[in-house]
Amino acid sequence: MSKLLVIGETRDGSLRNVTFEAIAAAKKIDSDGEVVGVLCGNGELESQANEMVYYGADRVIAIKHDNLKTYTSEGFGQAIMAVINDESPAAIVMGHTAIGKDLTPKIASKLEAGLISDATDIEVDGDKVVFTRPIYSGKAFEKKIITSDITFVTVRPNNITAFDRDESRTGEISSKDVEVTDIRTVIKDVIRKVSEGVDLSEAKVIVAGGRGVKSEDGFKPLQELADLLGGAVGASRGACDAEYCDYSLQIGQTGKVVTPDLYIACGISGAIQHLAGMSNSKVIVAINKDPEANIFNVADYGIVGDLFEVVPMLIEEIKKIK
Ligand code: FAD
Repeated sequence: MSKLLVIGETRDGSLRNVTFEAIAAAKKIDSDGEVVGVLCGNGELESQANEMVYYGADRVIAIKHDNLKTYTSEGFGQAIMAVINDESPAAIVMGHTAIGKDLTPKIASKLEAGLISDATDIEVDGDKVVFTRPIYSGKAFEKKIITSDITFVTVRPNNITAFDRDESRTGEISSKDVEVTDIRTVIKDVIRKVSEGVDLSEAKVIVAGGRGVKSEDGFKPLQELADLLGGAVGASRGACDAEYCDYSLQIGQTGKVVTPDLYIACGISGAIQHLAGMSNSKVIVAINKDPEANIFNVADYGIVGDLFEVVPMLIEEIKKIK
């Protein structure tokens, strides 16, 4: 039976949803394989380990060390390498997050293993595992297979459906001691740039504003709409450049790539660099006063109008049905 490692990723002590999607992805690679979760940290990891089991992991290995308090590629790299040496997995899967993008190529290159980055789907075709991933900024998808003994995969958030949480599932949780030394990167402080709320890259609903929002205050109705829908606020680079919001909200080629169930673009023209980050959203609604705006070419629903009239109307209507 093959072993498939899933590297859990936490934020503020809770596992990110993409970790559960990575567990489902591992099962897609080999439905008979043993899914082994790996957690790194310096504190209590048992509750997160249990969560990984509830979402489908067969076993979880927790590695605690003072040098694993915050992520560094050196620290986490050493910890994960130790597990790989012990377990000899066929695949290592994690989210296509900032950490996933940093960590997996470093370990994969050390092991001369193949890496599928940003996988959006996984299928088995005979004895081959076929991975789908976007290319040309999301304008096309390619299908790839890996021929090396170990396959590293990062999965794009919101694409592979996680299993339902099942508290009756059981699995072994063990701890492993690893020497984590020679950390040259010293994290002195972590400063949060965005306020609390739904994580943009994992949000199921995104209300994004562009230069048409016109000011920092102009984002307030967008935030209200996002809150009502349980979503997050995003932005075009135009809005970030104009200092209406922080660059951490930028979606696009040089920002975050998102695939929510619903993307509401308000006052965004639809430049190719913006589309690169959101055109694979499941349903796109565009609000723009210019009927010729390019965003309407990718929108499933288009509203030609002033966002400052349309967004409050949407808020009122949604409040009525809530
Ligand atoms: P604009 O193009 O100015 O569009 C504003 C829109 O708002 C217009 O369509 C207008 O009709 C509409 N509008 C105005 N007022 C209202 C109103 N009251 N109600 C409704 N609609 C209204 N851009 C990104 O977004 N993400 C990226 O990652 C990114 N990376 C880039 C990388 C490179 C190398 C380069 C060169 C550019 C990149 N850009 C990126 C910039 C991109 O080319 C565009 O300049 C940018 O996306 C435009 O932002 P915008 O649509 O908000 O602004």
